[in-house]
Amino acid sequence: MRRLIPAEQKRAIKMAALRDCGRRCVYCAAPLDYSRATLDHVYPLAKGGAHAPGNVVVACPSCNRLKTDMLPAEFFLRYPWAGSNFIHYARAVHRALKRQARRAVSLAFAQMRAA
Ligand SMILES: [Zn+2]
Repeated sequence: MRRLIPAEQKRAIKMAALRDCGRRCVYCAAPLDYSRATLDHVYPLAKGGAHAPGNVVVACPSCNRLKTDMLPAEFFLRYPWAGSNFIHYARAVHRALKRQARRAVSLAFAQMRAA
């Protein structure tokens, strides 16, 4: 098989991520098309996350800016709505990431009830 050039590779990764996320932003659930979707590394590259399937999702530009380099647990604790959507839409991410999301969301709701 012919090796993909980087631009084709990037496109293929984004297409696969879009499909795996139901063509929605995994954080706010907004419908996304190819041109509006941005790739997000759930566990940020800057903190040692992998550029590999299982850690790559699609997000809208504003959620991507909101998340920046926050760790998933940090982000979902601060924005539990993003965690709930993530649990629902990020179908192909690693189970460990989903587990972290579920834990952060339930912690966030417990804190809200206690406040
Ligand atoms: Zn979004």
